[in-house]
Amino acid sequence: MSVKIALAGNPNSGKTTLFNALTGSNQFVGNWPGVTVEKKEGRLKGHKDVIIIDLPGIYSLSPYTLEEVVARNYLINDRPDAIINIVDGTNIERNLYLSTQILELGIPVIMAVNMMDIVKKNGDEIRIARLGEKLGCEVVEISALKGTGITEAVKKAVAIAQTKTVSEIKHEFCKEAEEIIQRVEDKLSGIVTDGQKRFFAVKLLEKDEKIQTQISSMPDIAEDIKELEEKFEDDTESIITNERYCYISSIIGDCVKKNRAGKLTLSDKIDRVVTNRWLALPIFAIVMWVVYYVSVTTVGTFATDWTNDVLFGDIIPPAIENILVSVNCAGWLEGLILDGIVAGVGAVLGFVPQMFVLFIFLAFLESCGYMARVAFIMDRIFRKFGLSGKSFIPMLIGTGCSVPGVMASRTIENDRDRKMTVMTTTFIPCGAKLPIIALIAGALFDEASWVAPSAYFVGIAAVICSGIILKKTKMFAGDPAPFVMELPAYHMPTAGNIFRSMWERGWSFIKKAGTVILLSTILLWFLMSFGWADGSFGMLEADQLDSSILAVIGNFIAPLFKPLGWGDWKMAVAAVTGLIAKENVVGTFGILFGFAEVAEDGTEIWGQLAGSMTAVAAYSFLVFNLLCAPCFAAMGAIKREMNNPKWFWFAIGYQTGLAYAVSLCVYQIGNIISGGGFGLGTIVAVILMIGFGYLMVRPYKESRTLNAGQKAMVPAR
Ligand code: GDP
Repeated sequence: MSVKIALAGNPNSGKTTLFNALTGSNQFVGNWPGVTVEKKEGRLKGHKDVIIIDLPGIYSLSPYTLEEVVARNYLINDRPDAIINIVDGTNIERNLYLSTQILELGIPVIMAVNMMDIVKKNGDEIRIARLGEKLGCEVVEISALKGTGITEAVKKAVAIAQTKTVSEIKHEFCKEAEEIIQRVEDKLSGIVTDGQKRFFAVKLLEKDEKIQTQISSMPDIAEDIKELEEKFEDDTESIITNERYCYISSIIGDCVKKNRAGKLTLSDKIDRVVTNRWLALPIFAIVMWVVYYVSVTTVGTFATDWTNDVLFGDIIPPAIENILVSVNCAGWLEGLILDGIVAGVGAVLGFVPQMFVLFIFLAFLESCGYMARVAFIMDRIFRKFGLSGKSFIPMLIGTGCSVPGVMASRTIENDRDRKMTVMTTTFIPCGAKLPIIALIAGALFDEASWVAPSAYFVGIAAVICSGIILKKTKMFAGDPAPFVMELPAYHMPTAGNIFRSMWERGWSFIKKAGTVILLSTILLWFLMSFGWADGSFGMLEADQLDSSILAVIGNFIAPLFKPLGWGDWKMAVAAVTGLIAKENVVGTFGILFGFAEVAEDGTEIWGQLAGSMTAVAAYSFLVFNLLCAPCFAAMGAIKREMNNPKWFWFAIGYQTGLAYAVSLCVYQIGNIISGGGFGLGTIVAVILMIGFGYLMVRPYKESRTLNAGQKAMVPAR
């Protein structure tokens, strides 16, 4: 029979490092069923029958974040055979808050105090045996990074799993609280097993509604709650949190000896500079500039250009063409393979080298401990409009390419913040949108220098306004997630961990390119390449795009865009081909205006474009393309990060809807300002703007405040 061991601990306690060390490459990474929270499972190296489950990093077993709910549902319903509670030895006091809850679950627990290498280097002392006695469970010292003590820890975990040794709950709250907890425990007889009584009794006293759905019948404990609240003159949740902290302080004094004596650790010294009020932002700007410079503009661009122009330009297509010609392949099939599959998937895979370079940097910054500081620095600014400090990185990366940008949102633990970031990151103009900006600026605005900055401004404004508006909806309402992030000690990450992290992120994208993106590009290729020319249906020449099925569709949907000022089918078709890759927009215009090939900014067609629409309409077209659904590759990334069709479509619908509304307002209002006529569209635009104003200023939805435990954890330096 296989043994299931769950790893539970705070974020940054070293769970991933331990998990990787224990499972090696025998792991499966996915998502917990139905939610985007990462799920990792693997077999213990050399022991096929021991399964290790990495639970999401959490600070407590409360129901406030999706991670907490996922972790505790697993612990309550699936009941692993044993839990390894991994505790950051450099931050033991805060970590024990979760431990006291885990010990109440009635599951065999072994505590692994991690980062012992740092603890020792700092000259601190943790009395492991004493801690074990106080907590009532076995405690071992480990260093997940160095690999010390981990074999012993897992051996002990397997042993207690096999003997089913549930630790005795040694921790006690004050007498009055214990009496009431005991009373509720008695009422739970027959409803939950004896081992689980304390956990459920405490959670029920905390008025945790989600836990009530986990038990078959709900005992009447209203009187007990009332009595507890009256005795302590506080609400039950705060009472229990305080009791936990009192208990933890009592054992810390006995078991942990800090060698501080006014001495600052190296990490503290670095932090004095890096998180300094005045230096933090400039240092951060320099670090990100280096990352960006290397991964987006130099090495990354070189690699991506090489993949696009050489590998998928000069090498693969001619080679495949030769093969196809040599086997006398039918013209349409050759077109499908070369122009559809190879070109489409090639365009997507072209991003891969750039992504890998970027992911190496991100993995490094993340695991050396700097990313935690960045989030901390940016948090104060970002929370003002409902996003987390961690949303900044995806957006910054998104200026290069939305695909790695969206994927970088993985580092955001809080589910709501992550979804919001995934939805809004693509508003920031990516590299591929720059040619569209150059085209419009050149053709209609005399290459005015304000056009490009204004595009970034529109993107940033869309992110900020979306943050404010969405946070006020029921879907995103809730506790303003506090900044409860540990600032781990700085250290040199191992190469293995960096490459593993890079590969995990990159590979999942490559898989997407092979499925959803492949199908989408084939479909679009078909719509562009077939049509009615010379009186019959068939495959078209490259310059016959205006006879294609896509043109028919373009004609059909063009009226939709009339209120936005660009109801011409060519515009509609250009916007649709932008879904393959935004660079395509300029190329499509080129073909539609009779050029087989145009420069990146479409200089050749500036004159014709200027003749076919007004400046206001062109700007509305630009805004629409900036904000609407991104390219297939980015949509693939959104789909993966959302991990739920409903959320995916909501994101795409929101982006496109917002793009439509903003473009409509730009055109209609701009038209009035530039002396155009007043019409139905103008009225709609005014109504939209009033509605928008209302959504921005209406009050936030009622939200439950956080439990005192989380508040208590906020002072992260
Ligand atoms: P998780 O968020 O709990 O999965 O934590 P990670 O495994 O990502 O670890 C957080 C950081 O601590 C990473 O940079 C690790 O390399 C580092 N780390 C983990 N275990 C140890 C350890 O035993 N000693 C040291 N010095 N660093 C560690």
